[in-house]
Amino acid sequence: MATIVIDAGHGGYDAGAVNGTRFEKNDNLRMALAVGERLQKCGIKVVYTRTSDVFVPLLERSRISNNNNADLFVSFHRNSASNPIANGVETLVYINASNKALQAAEALQQALVNAGVQSNRGVKRVNLSVLRETNAPAILLELGFINNEQDNVLFDTQFNTYADVIAQSLAKSVGVNCGGSGNGDTTPNATIRNIQSTLNARYGAGLSVDGIWGPLSQKALIRALQIELNMNYGAGLIVDGIFGPRTKAAIRNLSQGSRGNLVWILQAGLFVKGFETTLDSIFGANTANQVRAFQTANGLIADGIAGTNTFEALMR
Ligand SMILES: [Zn+2]
Repeated sequence: MATIVIDAGHGGYDAGAVNGTRFEKNDNLRMALAVGERLQKCGIKVVYTRTSDVFVPLLERSRISNNNNADLFVSFHRNSASNPIANGVETLVYINASNKALQAAEALQQALVNAGVQSNRGVKRVNLSVLRETNAPAILLELGFINNEQDNVLFDTQFNTYADVIAQSLAKSVGVNCGGSGNGDTTPNATIRNIQSTLNARYGAGLSVDGIWGPLSQKALIRALQIELNMNYGAGLIVDGIFGPRTKAAIRNLSQGSRGNLVWILQAGLFVKGFETTLDSIFGANTANQVRAFQTANGLIADGIAGTNTFEALMR
């Protein structure tokens, strides 16, 4: 059985980086436990260096890994910088890292970039105790900056997506299939099935309800958007499932407080791009956060209002 040591950075009196009342040690532990739980479900032996808010010395973390003869050691951290503009995700390995560590780090970094991060800071070689003193291939993830507002929005709103792709990628690095492709792709998914069957029932889409989002499903979503724009605003669009200039021009802004089928289409579009929303047809605070996260990931102004540019990026 493959063994992965999951190391939540800092803990106890060592809060790590701090942003107001937000402590790095808590974010680290939350993500570490979420990833560990997923790995265990895939039949991987998970050893934690801590599962609560306690201080664990650095050498003790490496000793736990070495005593358990781990196949992989992963340390979870959040980054910080004096400049609040610094943002993005990076994965660290020891300066003399083994190929195995380097490959695991590259795969993890790519999986997170595919899932959507503010910026890709790449894999870096550093001389850190936990990486140096650990016998197993060891990597350290800096999952966004705790003093960057948008990185925190992404950490919070994409939490489950990140936990999924991290677990999938780590599992793959120790030769275990834990769902996905290990690079951020989606697997058959109950919510996607639900979206497909709603598109069939409400708009006669004729999709096979397989829980996998492909070009036909995306086209059906655009057709649904065109039908709703015609019904709600008399847009007079040809319902062809192609998001062209006329469809774009017919878009009206959706914002917090909006509700109805157009909001459902927005939520479905966000979900299939990996921005998990509840498909309740009500544009609430969570939908606004997901719109902002999506806008940031697509280089748009993160105003939380779904207008022409946001829909254009969503319907791509
Ligand atoms: Zn840290």
